[in-house]
Amino acid sequence: MKEVDLSNPEVVRYIVKRFGLRMNKKLGQNFLIRRDVVDDIADAADLTVGTPVLEIGPGIGTLTQGLAETGADVTAVELDDKLLPVLDKTLEHYDNVRIIHGDIMRIDIEETMNHQPFTVCANLPYYITTPIIMKLLEQRLPIEKIVVMVQKEVAERMTFGPGSKIYGALSVSVQYYTEPHLLFEIPPHAFMPAPEVTSAVVSMDVRKEPPVHVTEEKRFFQVVKAAFGQRRKTFANTLKSTGLGKEDVARILTEAGIDGQRRGETFSLEEFADVANAWSRIIEAGR
Ligand code: SAM
Repeated sequence: MKEVDLSNPEVVRYIVKRFGLRMNKKLGQNFLIRRDVVDDIADAADLTVGTPVLEIGPGIGTLTQGLAETGADVTAVELDDKLLPVLDKTLEHYDNVRIIHGDIMRIDIEETMNHQPFTVCANLPYYITTPIIMKLLEQRLPIEKIVVMVQKEVAERMTFGPGSKIYGALSVSVQYYTEPHLLFEIPPHAFMPAPEVTSAVVSMDVRKEPPVHVTEEKRFFQVVKAAFGQRRKTFANTLKSTGLGKEDVARILTEAGIDGQRRGETFSLEEFADVANAWSRIIEAGR
């Protein structure tokens, strides 16, 4: 039997009325109302029967339905308890969907996914997009692929390289841990209520190994954070802000073969790695 299409605007309006829902703006509740978009996102996740997939924020179950129809094994984590009775009803015919009430920033994701490799597919709540993505990446969870809908500007930040104004610490982290692709844009009227911004879908293939050799990851991210913390300063000055003395900064830059007058936003991942590794070598030599 073909189930009711949860992306149909009439159906969404009916559900909202029947359950007396108020879309909670603070929780980023903009529900998809276009079946083609739901299908395109689910397709991008490359799911097959039995693939474990984590959805963050199922809302009333619209994307969840698209994921469930691939035959994947769907675990959806929703924070808003008012949506739980809705999801119970809208997804009642899918025995491959498990709804978990919780905050994605607080739950133990690996435990929730039964310590199995999994895929992430979600229309993310925009107010915490970056913390969610960083949590997924930094915890080195056994994730194979992440397909997320985010604000277009964030999608660009995740995928653009050095030299563009939008390149920043998020770009470096995402590109260090994954191979990201900006897939397509989605206009505001694909949602109810319509957000003020255009959205975009990004697919990230999680890397088995980082694309650059880094001796100490903590130092690499310390350099990146310093470089983008004060974008207007020269790179040499941003390095000083980490507590390094002038002479050490000069030694690190010479060792790395980097011109300290450049700005951090022009640096490739390799160059950030060269600086971090030079710093590690100098410290090691001084011990
Ligand atoms: N997946 C649905 C869709 O595409 O129509 C809804 C997406 S809506 C943009 C984001 C969803 O994330 C909302 O249902 C919201 O309640 C939920 N949410 C917000 N913060 C969350 C959190 N910290 N943990 C889990 N879910 C959250």
